Formats: sequence, C-alpha cells, structure tokens
Amino acid sequence: MSAEHERLSSWDGAYVLGALSAADRAEYEAHLAVCAPCRKAVAELAPTAGLLSRLSAERARAIAAPDGPAPVVTPHPSLRTRVVQTARRRRARRITAWTLAASLAVVAIAVPTVITVTNASSSSSGVTYALDEVNGAPLEASVKLTPVAWGTRIDLVCQYTGEVLDAPPGGWPYALAVTDDSGATSVLSTWRAGPGATTELSAGTDLEASSIGSIEIRSVDGDRVVMRRDFSTP
Ligand SMILES: [Zn+2]
Repeated sequence: MSAEHERLSSWDGAYVLGALSAADRAEYEAHLAVCAPCRKAVAELAPTAGLLSRLSAERARAIAAPDGPAPVVTPHPSLRTRVVQTARRRRARRITAWTLAASLAVVAIAVPTVITVTNASSSSSGVTYALDEVNGAPLEASVKLTPVAWGTRIDLVCQYTGEVLDAPPGGWPYALAVTDDSGATSVLSTWRAGPGATTELSAGTDLEASSIGSIEIRSVDGDRVVMRRDFSTP
C-alpha cells in the first residue's frame, strides 16, 4: 500500500457523507481513481450515506401530514451510525485506536453547505417561528429567520423536555435541516440534546427566506423528522 493510501484510507466515511472540504474531496477523488481498495470502501458505504442525503422532503411531508394515512416509517438505525460503524469495523483492522467517538467527531465537524455563524448578535429584522412537534418528540424549538446578504440566517433554540431515563449519556443526536421550495434538503447543523439541555445555535443557508419550504429537526438515530415548520403553505 502506498503512503498516500495509508494517509487517505480513513477518509471514506467523511467522503460519502459529503463532509470533506472541496480540496480534500478533490484529493481523495484523485486517489480513488488509482486505488481499488478505497473505491471498494466507498462503494460499501455509499448506499447508506446516499439514503441519508436523500432523506426526502416527500417522506418528511408524509410523516408530517396531519390528515393522511399513518406513514410507514421504516425502522432502521441511524444511517450515520451505520456508516460510521461500517467504516469503523473496517478501520479497526487497520487502525485499532480509531474509535467511534473519533469517527463521529470527524463527521460532525465538517458538514457541507453549512455557514456557521458564531456571532451571537441578532438582527431585529428576524422573524421567529415555533416548530411543530411531529412524532411526540421531547423537544420544544423555535427558529428565527433573518434575511442577510448571503441568504438567511437561522437561529435555533431547542430545549429537550424528555425524561432522564430516556436519554443516553451525551444526549440524542439531532440535525437541523432546511428544504427549499423545490424539495432539496440540506443539513445545516447537528448537535446532541439530553435532559435539561437547551441548545442555541446559529446556522445559515444561501436560500432566501421566501425560498425556504420547511425547516426540520431530525433525529439522527431514528432518521426521522421530529420537529417541523412548513413555510410552503400560508
Ligand atoms: Zn487507497
């Protein structure tokens, strides 16, 4: 195995989740072109990661629809967890020190299409909307949408109201996702929430507020929408 392969072989999980920077992605793809083992690694991971990225607005609407028949939600474990665990199983054969925590950290750090805004000051022109509970989620949440030069800033406040017994150490992983009016969904940020936790985070999208179809909080473990605000209907 080449030194390049040794260096890049652990990037498969981040690659299929779209979590590599543009430069890293280009480098990794150049390596893929010449490395069969890495192509095989990506091929193994891609189906589960693809499901995550295709987590469809259609499915979200089905879940959220108050009038329609009860949606069939295929119970399967977190896609991300599956990706990470698949990667970890393989990696364990190569790098025994690689831990799930480390892989999760890698995935969590680099979420594509995110513009994380750390400046906490907020414009007075923002409008705050409560998110509606979808499936009995133990959350209360609201988003404030503020038009800015590059799109829309989204300030989320999310409180976990569930029982202590329900939550794993560190809390449940959640994702903030925005769907545009054509149905394309982007995950803007992820975090963990457990009992007593109130999460405040700021993220951004290049969408104008008028082009935002919905904003959702998704359970990463359950791969389902748990809180939602639909902007496409008046
Ligand atoms: Zn390789």
